Amino acid sequence: MRPKMLNLTDVVADMHLLLKRVSGDHAQLERQHARDLWPVMADIGQFEQVITNLVQNARDAMPNGGKITIATRNVSAKETAQFGYAELVDGDYVLVEVADTGSGMPPEVAERIFEPFFTTKEIGKGTGLGLSMVYGIIKQSNGFIYVDSTPGEGTTFRIFLPRYVSTE
Ligand code: ADP
Ligand code: MG
Repeated sequence: MRPKMLNLTDVVADMHLLLKRVSGDHAQLERQHARDLWPVMADIGQFEQVITNLVQNARDAMPNGGKITIATRNVSAKETAQFGYAELVDGDYVLVEVADTGSGMPPEVAERIFEPFFTTKEIGKGTGLGLSMVYGIIKQSNGFIYVDSTPGEGTTFRIFLPRYVSTE
């Protein structure tokens, strides 16, 4: 890991062509970016792998098409409590959300998705390693990842990375 100071809005914008290819023809890809995003400390290659994996899974979850939305925004220490995630302690975070209008998943699937080799896909279509890798990268970056899914409606992944404050 070689963490650097990054603006994740710029990183996601630079990935646009790649993500369009990953999301396929029938999925609509939309970006929602707040201006003046706070910087984070992250490894750009690993962050790109995280986003690529989430978009790949979103595409797989909507064989008949739909929409994938990638959003980035600042979440201040005052706002973190609104999410109701207990681990998100006091502090400023940058939030990256990847949402899809796909199949969604039942709770018994959602609670296992970060386990290595857990997959609901056919042999040859999935290894079940994507999200366990994603989870490891986010933990190493001192961040948090959560999933919110409703069968028949879709899935939202939320990644919180701590705001980087320069000490110079
Ligand atoms: P793989 O994609 O190889 O199956 P992952 O670790 O990427 O492995 O995902 C594990 C499982 O989580 C998937 O098989 C699927 O059941 C579920 N999953 C992940 N992302 C989504 C999503 N966006 N919508 C519905 N199910 C999902
Ligand atoms: Mg996957």
